[in-house]
Amino acid sequence: MNLLGLHHVTAMAGDPVANVAFYTRVLGLRLIKRTVNFDDPSTYHLYFGDTVGTPGSALTFFYWAGQPRGRIGSGQVSATAWSVPAASLAFWTARLTTHLLPFSTESRLGDTVLRFTDPDGLGLEIVATHEPDARQPWAHPEIPVAHGLRGFHSVTLTHTSSARTAALLVSTMGAREISREDATHRVRYAFATGGPGAYLDLLAPPDAPRGQPGLGTVHHVAFRVADDEAELAARSEWQKAGLNVSPQMDRNYFHSIYAREPGGVLFEIATDTPGFAIDEPLETLGTNLKLPAQYEAHRSAIEAALPPLPT
Ligand code: ZN
Repeated sequence: MNLLGLHHVTAMAGDPVANVAFYTRVLGLRLIKRTVNFDDPSTYHLYFGDTVGTPGSALTFFYWAGQPRGRIGSGQVSATAWSVPAASLAFWTARLTTHLLPFSTESRLGDTVLRFTDPDGLGLEIVATHEPDARQPWAHPEIPVAHGLRGFHSVTLTHTSSARTAALLVSTMGAREISREDATHRVRYAFATGGPGAYLDLLAPPDAPRGQPGLGTVHHVAFRVADDEAELAARSEWQKAGLNVSPQMDRNYFHSIYAREPGGVLFEIATDTPGFAIDEPLETLGTNLKLPAQYEAHRSAIEAALPPLPT
């Protein structure tokens, strides 16, 4: 498989208003796409990312108001990590403190990691990394570009028993083990040439409780391929490995296939093309509600049912 790294992460949240305020105002991401859940157009599907929603920077949410919170644990993506330069550690420590966001600090494979959660309890991290990361963050009035979130650094999957997931990553998905930390039961895998945005960590603590889906948990993680050809090749590799793979689906901004890995996490492979500017100009990404063709006729009713979002 020719996987280039992480593409997006999709999680479940409760209140879209609080969610937008947190990701745009506190973390300084851009709301890059405002659309609806194609299976339930009475709820939003919102995408956050860098200036253009570069693959590897997109965090997306479905909203299930009133549903119970999940529990982060084994069988899940337990953390989604953002990359910032090592020199930005003090800035983010101060910013999380100013916003009264509880966090912990940990040393991991040579970098310092700030760990915290979003308003729904989703596990987030900022990795202040010594590795070069040339990706350009979205400009935010309170966050100098030098300190902005570059995009994903990595995702962490927690599995009390990770051998079959590790085998799939290495034997079928083209990942390679690049480092491990035995004391914390963490193994890091890299896709393609590696670097921030192309890492997946497997955490295998023997005693992790089983995770429960719900608000504040990840629904799926998507990996990047360049185009349809690479995606269809990946599809046949997943099938050869015995996975139950979906047909290719058109998600408007990318094309996708899905399969559940042996540890229970839903994996997606998504194309870099066509991207988020396919239905609105880059300058105004995320400012207007975009609907798929089947819902255009119902636009006024759909818009009336959705809460206004903070700007
Ligand atoms: Zn997805």
